[in-house]
Amino acid sequence: MEKISSSPLRLTDKENASGRVELSKKEWKAILSDEVFRITREKGTEKPFSGKYVESRQRGVYTCACCGNDLFSSAAKFESRTGWPSFYAPISEQNVREKLDLGLGLLRTEVLCARCDAHLGHVFNDGPEPASLRYCMNSLALDFCPANGETSRKRAEAKPVEMK
Ligand SMILES: [Zn+2]
Repeated sequence: MEKISSSPLRLTDKENASGRVELSKKEWKAILSDEVFRITREKGTEKPFSGKYVESRQRGVYTCACCGNDLFSSAAKFESRTGWPSFYAPISEQNVREKLDLGLGLLRTEVLCARCDAHLGHVFNDGPEPASLRYCMNSLALDFCPANGETSRKRAEAKPVEMK
């Protein structure tokens, strides 16, 4: 099946042997919008209630805005009233990476895309039972593929991250 691309960059060309996408900041800047770049590559945070996926109830899969990796299912989305799209679990633990974040004088756990290291948001332990996790994400770090809809080009090209 032929994939139609409007992007100047085919991300598969940039994949390394373990299926990761590792671009320089300059390369990311060339393909991402300024606000997506600020959030995902410079660990920014969008204003609460500003994101397009905060209220979304549509069925489908949330993917990485940078590389198309599947990140969260709409089935795991819940209303946290925080102003950011919130999920109680990633679609697969292999698709995200967690990292201790001591920024802002707070002890938090940063959540990154396992395929391209995009900053997605943070995970807190005040989510719903039983796992009590709240993945607090930036809408700008996500794209959305509706169920039964057309698969996005980036997602179609995404391959699972190789297990270490
Ligand atoms: Zn990614």
